[in-house]
Amino acid sequence: MVDLHGQYLRIKDEIDREVLNVIESTAFINGPAVKAFQEDLEAYLGVRHVIPCANGTDALQVSLMALGLKPGDEVITTTFTFIATAEVIALLGLTPVLVDIDPRSFNIDLEAVRRSITPRTRAIIPVHLFGQCADMDGILRLAREHGLYVVEDAAQAIGSTYYDAEGSHKAGTMGHVGCTSFFPSKNLGCYGDGGAVFTNDDALAATLRVIVNHGMTRRYYHDLVGVNSRLDSIQAAILRIKLPHLDGYNAARRDAADRYDALLGRHPKVSVPFRSPNTSHTFHQYTLLVHDGYRDGLLEHLQSKGIPCAIYYPVPLHLQKAYLDPRYGQGDFPVAEAVAAECLSLPMHTELDAEQQEYIAGEIKAFLA
Ligand SMILES: *Cc1c(COP(=O)(O)O)cnc(C)c1O
Repeated sequence: MVDLHGQYLRIKDEIDREVLNVIESTAFINGPAVKAFQEDLEAYLGVRHVIPCANGTDALQVSLMALGLKPGDEVITTTFTFIATAEVIALLGLTPVLVDIDPRSFNIDLEAVRRSITPRTRAIIPVHLFGQCADMDGILRLAREHGLYVVEDAAQAIGSTYYDAEGSHKAGTMGHVGCTSFFPSKNLGCYGDGGAVFTNDDALAATLRVIVNHGMTRRYYHDLVGVNSRLDSIQAAILRIKLPHLDGYNAARRDAADRYDALLGRHPKVSVPFRSPNTSHTFHQYTLLVHDGYRDGLLEHLQSKGIPCAIYYPVPLHLQKAYLDPRYGQGDFPVAEAVAAECLSLPMHTELDAEQQEYIAGEIKAFLA
């Protein structure tokens, strides 16, 4: 699905040098590279605080911990996302309240969120799925009306921009907290695991920094129950080199998406991705809908031709075994269920060229003919 090696070769000299520098320095944990990357990312995002941590799942977990949510509190999120979004809600003993998605953007459906608010609701987690922002204007307005926290899951949308009446905002900087992941295949990926939390709230940032470090306020004095969640110095050094390339990486993905659109946009058996007018799409995934029951056959055909593609996601959360709940069943979220049955993500990365895409589109058309 992604060509990480090709991308590495373009920046190899710098990466090799900086990784060796960290090894020579032996400042493996909380070394200067971590602080430097944190500051670079704060400047890029235009956010007051970046709190680096070990991965995107931890970023979500420590965010909910820092907001002081208590067992029984309800957290509304989308049923069509990577499992991590709901996993942390369940792990903390909070109650996940799942809702359906918008049929065009595949992002959380604002009206469904509105209908799901109860006196126990404390937070909403919109996921900026596949690289474009959810309807943040509507979600933030709803949250203000009801006194709710907003935790953005921006693991797939780092560098995406959202436009509203006030101007433009980077994904993850609009809610009380934003979370991202630096998993290797994400748009800003490191060479292992990594993640970060963003916030403009000074007090919340201070709490988050304590929580990711064992709840420690001064050495061996623990005022809160925390976790051990750090970004390695080596990963920070790599991310610091890659961050200035992020806008270029996202532009390369958009160019590739434009080429797929031109090749497949008029085919009657597929729908190409919708582009919301108020957000830039960073195409973490380029996800088609394949109609008329051809999806699984097409997946098999492409894989047999050596074209890596995948289904994100085959089963919405409300139908996952670990998350089965008497509140929900098959048919309750018809949009997410229909999308799960038809979605197919094509190869998408920064090194994709027109020739490869013509081959991929050719095989798609050949199979569907
Ligand atoms: C990747 C991802 C996460 C989790 O990130 P990790 O770094 O793998 O823990 C969370 N939410 C979404 C939507 C993701 O795509």
